[in-house]
Amino acid sequence: IERRQVDVALGARRYRIHIGRGLLDEAARLLALVPGRHALVLTDANVAPHYLARVQAALVEKQVQSWVLPPGEQEKTLARFGEVMTVLAGMGASRDVTVLALGGGVVGDLAGFAAACWMRGVRFVQLPTTLLAMVDSAVGGKTAVDLPEGKNLVGAFHQPAAVLADVATLDTLPERELRAGLAEVVKYGALGDAGFFAWLEDRAEALLAREPEVLAEAIARCCEHKAGIVARDETEQGERMLLNLGHTFGHAIETEQGYGGLLHGEAVAVGMVLAARLSSELGRAPWPDAARLAALLERLGLPVAIPAGLGPQALLARMRLDKKAVSGALRLVLWRGIGQAEVVDDVADEAILAVLDA
Ligand code: ADP
Ligand code: ZN
Repeated sequence: IERRQVDVALGARRYRIHIGRGLLDEAARLLALVPGRHALVLTDANVAPHYLARVQAALVEKQVQSWVLPPGEQEKTLARFGEVMTVLAGMGASRDVTVLALGGGVVGDLAGFAAACWMRGVRFVQLPTTLLAMVDSAVGGKTAVDLPEGKNLVGAFHQPAAVLADVATLDTLPERELRAGLAEVVKYGALGDAGFFAWLEDRAEALLAREPEVLAEAIARCCEHKAGIVARDETEQGERMLLNLGHTFGHAIETEQGYGGLLHGEAVAVGMVLAARLSSELGRAPWPDAARLAALLERLGLPVAIPAGLGPQALLARMRLDKKAVSGALRLVLWRGIGQAEVVDDVADEAILAVLDA
């Protein structure tokens, strides 16, 4: 089976992302990720029945505690974070504990934040089981929990010691979650790699059919892209902001809908289409490129229009509350066309309202 590796270099520190089928079956590899005595495996109730036993078996010679969360973004809370702190305290975990996140972005964000905070920071390993986590949230060290006031408002930068993306875990991922992950895959092509975008256009059906080699290649290319950006801008002072293409619009839709609406990736798909349309309206991007972006997302089974019932004014108000806003001024990632994004601070409300109203 083919394996791929992507290194993330952050100054003197570096870690490796391993991508391939069957990685979770390699007990020795898993064991090597836990140098200390203690390990805490965080996962959720959908993932645990499929994959937890394998991880536990690989770590039998360690003192391992597993903690299974109820699934869903609505669990990424301070209350759950507190619960994990209590678990770590109950284990008698010292600074040599390794926290492993086995699951999607929710588990990864919460586990990463717990690892960042326990005794001011302990070793953290990502074992992503969703496409979205493999290509995005498991890489780059952003960890957080949500508040009722907004997503990811409480968090820290805390890089993992390693990321092990076992592509075989995607076999059990629900179809809708797979498609949502593909939105973030398209994002990399859209914001920085026209060649990759065209590659995806040629492989939309193969991706939906979960062809292992195509999926692994797509994941590796996304990770390479993200690793490059994170290496140049770990804490999002500049270039890393481009990874938020579609996200200011998307987060507004997500929060305005509340839990049970669009999935994050779906909202990002709509958000990218809105960002592309706004850019074209402003004369910054070619209209045919915006159409190509929407067409690819549609072929991947993703929504490309704002769900019914969400008003433009309410969405604009949400966008203003987004973390990316600087002292009230909206900061948007706009588009120059396929393969090129840019950060823009001075877009008039009327222009934004016009695309939110279309
Ligand atoms: P994301 O990675 O998209 O941020 P979540 O962590 O919420 O999102 O995971 C999405 C959903 O998919 C959750 O309900 C989670 O329990 C479930 N899930 C995650 N990985 C798998 C998998 N490999 N097989 C089946 N279900 C999974
Ligand atoms: Zn995202």
